[in-house]
Amino acid sequence: MAEHESLEFGKADFVLLDSVSLEEFMANLKLRFEKGRIYTYIGEVVVSVNPYRAMNIYGRDTIEQYKGRELYERPPHLFAIADAAYKAMKRRNKDTCIVISGESGAGKTEASKYIMQYIAAITNPGQRAEVERVKNMLLKSNCVLEAFGNAKTNRNDNSSRFGKYMDINFDFKGDPIGGHINNYLLEKSRVIFQQEGERSFHSFYQMVKGGSESLLRSLHVSKDPTAYSYIKVGGQVKVGYHRSNFLVFLYLSPCDLSQGNLTFGVDGDTTLIENSKVVAVIGVLLATKEENVGKALLYRTVATGRDVIDKQHTTQEASYGRDALAKAMYERMFCWIVGRINDVIEVKNYDAKVHGKNTVIGVLDIYGFEIFQNNSFEQFCINYCNEKLQQLFIQLVLRQEQEEYQREGIPWKHIDYFNNQIIVDLVELQHKGIFSVLDEACMTVGKVTDEVFLQGLNSKLAKHAHYTSRKLSPTDKSLEFDRDFRIRHYAGDVVYSVVGFIDKNKDTLFQDFKRLLYNSSNPVLKMMWPEGKLSITEVTKRPLTAATLFKNSMIALVENLACKEPYYVRCIKPNDVKSPLLFEYERCRHQVEYLGLLENVRVRRAGFANRQEYPRFLQRYKMISEFTWPNHDLPSDKEAVKRLVQGCGFEHDVAYGKTKVFVRTPRTLFCLEEQRDEM
Ligand code: ATP
Ligand code: MG
Repeated sequence: MAEHESLEFGKADFVLLDSVSLEEFMANLKLRFEKGRIYTYIGEVVVSVNPYRAMNIYGRDTIEQYKGRELYERPPHLFAIADAAYKAMKRRNKDTCIVISGESGAGKTEASKYIMQYIAAITNPGQRAEVERVKNMLLKSNCVLEAFGNAKTNRNDNSSRFGKYMDINFDFKGDPIGGHINNYLLEKSRVIFQQEGERSFHSFYQMVKGGSESLLRSLHVSKDPTAYSYIKVGGQVKVGYHRSNFLVFLYLSPCDLSQGNLTFGVDGDTTLIENSKVVAVIGVLLATKEENVGKALLYRTVATGRDVIDKQHTTQEASYGRDALAKAMYERMFCWIVGRINDVIEVKNYDAKVHGKNTVIGVLDIYGFEIFQNNSFEQFCINYCNEKLQQLFIQLVLRQEQEEYQREGIPWKHIDYFNNQIIVDLVELQHKGIFSVLDEACMTVGKVTDEVFLQGLNSKLAKHAHYTSRKLSPTDKSLEFDRDFRIRHYAGDVVYSVVGFIDKNKDTLFQDFKRLLYNSSNPVLKMMWPEGKLSITEVTKRPLTAATLFKNSMIALVENLACKEPYYVRCIKPNDVKSPLLFEYERCRHQVEYLGLLENVRVRRAGFANRQEYPRFLQRYKMISEFTWPNHDLPSDKEAVKRLVQGCGFEHDVAYGKTKVFVRTPRTLFCLEEQRDEM
C-alpha cells in the first residue's frame, strides 16, 4: 500500500472519511498533524496546517517527485496543486489561479513562496537568460515586499499587512516570461501606531539597524530605534529572528521617522511646532524648503468664495495632519515600490505579448477573516474581502463541477449550501449597502460623527437578517449603544465599533501637503503626488473614499479570478503560541467551520471524487485486467476502461463521460491503486 494511503497517517483526502462529520474531520486533521502530515486534500483543494517547524519536504528531490504527476499519485502537497495549475495552463491553455486563504499566521505567505519556488524549479529547462532573469526577479520581489509590507504582530512575527495578487505570465513553451503584482489595502495606520507587543513595518528597523553610519548620517537618522516615537509605540523593537537582511534606502522612511517626533504646542492663539529642528530635517529629506514644511504643518489654505486664506490649525488638527501625511507617504512609497517591481517583471517581449500564447497563473495571498476584541473599519474591509472570495468559491466550485458534468454528458445533482451573496450585498450594494451608507455620511456637509453613520445603518438595514445593533436588539447587552453593530458573516458573528469609520473612510490628507510634496525638487516624490499640481481653487472633485476604492479593487480582483481555473489552499493555524506540537482542538475546529471545509467535503462527495481522461486512466491501471494488459484490442480506450471497471466490479461507482471516466468515491480509486501496487 502506498504511504499516503496508509491508515497510520489518517486519510489523505477528507472525501474518504467514513462519514462526513465535524468529529471525523477533526480527528483526521489532528492525527495527520501529529504524524507530521501537514497537507490533506479535499478533492483538489489542499488543506494545510502550519507545522511551525522546518519540514524536510520542499527540496529538489521532492520537487522531482511531483513534477508532471497526478494529484492522487503522491502524498498531498502544495507542489501537487502547483503542478496541477501548471499542467492546466500548459496542456489545456487555461489561465489558472491559486487562492490561498486562512487567518493571520496560518502559513499563506510561506505557501505562496513554496508554490513560486516549485514553478521556478520546473520551468526553463533550456536555461534561457531572460527567463532566468524574470524568475529571479519574481522570487526576489517577495523579499522587498516583505521588508516594506510585513510587520511583527501579536499573531505572527512576519505578518503581511497588505493583500497581494501576483500574475505569472508564461510563453508557449510554458516558461515564465513576466509577471505583475497587485497590492491591496496596506495597513498604513501601523506607521503611526502599533498595539502593545507589535512593531511597525520591518523596513524601519532594518534601516536603523542595518544602515551604515554614513548612510544614516546622510539621512539624519539615529541608530537607536527607540529615539523614534512612531516605531516604539508597541514597545517592541526586536523580533526574535531576522528574516531578511535586505536594506533599501529611500527618503521617505527616514522622513516618516522624523515626523513622528514632531510635537505641537500653543502660545496664546497661535499653534507652534515645539521642536523646529525636526522641521529642518524633514525639509532636507523631502527636498523642499523648511518654511514650506512648517507652513503646511500649521496652516490650511482654504478658498472662501473668491478669497484664498490661510487658516491656522489647532494643535489637534496639526497632529492629525502630521499623522495623515506620515501614513500617506508610506503608502504611496509602498505602491511606488510595487510599481518599480512591475516595471522590471512585466512582459517585455512584444511578440510574446501580442502574438504568442501567453497564459497566466495567478497567486493570491490575502488577509484571512479577522475577529478581534475590537473590530474597526480595517476588519470590516478585510472581512468583506473574505465574503467576496467565499462567494467566488461557491460560484466556481459549483460552476466548474456543473460545467464539466454538462460537457461530459453526465447528469448533475445539485447540492445546497449557504450562499453568502446576501452578505456581500449587505456590504456593497449601491444605495443600500453599508459602504454606501458610510459614503453618504461622509458626504454630509458640516460635522458628521460616527454615530450619525450608525443611525443611517439602523434606519436602512433594520430588517436585514444579517445586521443588528443595540437599537434594533435592545436586550442584547453585548452591543454598546451609539457604537456597535453586528454582522452575521458566513464565518461567524463580528461586532464592529463605528469609532473612526468616518475618518478612516474620508482618509483626508490636506491639499497643502500634496502641494508641498509635488513641489519637492526630488523627482520621485514629485511623481508620487500628481494631484499636488492643482491650486486650491482648482480642486473641485472629492477624492474617492477608502471604502469605495477598496470595494472597486475587490470587484476587479474577483472578476479577474472568476475567469481563471481556480485551485485552493486553505491554511489552518494549529495554535496561538507558534508550537510545532500543539493542536488546539477548539481553535482548529473554529477555522474548519468558517473556512466551510465540511461543506466542501459534502459537495465533493455529492459529485464525483475523481475524473480522468480515458487514456490516462488506462495507462495507470491497465495492468489490473487481462483485457487491457499489455494492450487492448477494443475499439476505443473508453470501451477498454469499461471492460476494466467491469472486471473489478466497480461499475456502480463509475460514470462514463465523453472523454473522461468519473469515479464517485475515492475508495474505488484507492482500491485500484492498491491492486496496481500488488501487480
Ligand atoms: P499573515 O496573514 O499574518 O501574513 P500568513 O498566513 O501569511 O500570516 P506566514 O507568514 O506564511 O503566515 O506563516 C507564519 C509563520 O509560520 C512563518 O513565519 C513560519 O515560521 C511558520 N510557517 C508557516 N508555514 C510553514 C511551513 N510550511 N513550514 C515551516 N514553517 C511554516
Ligand atoms: Mg502573510
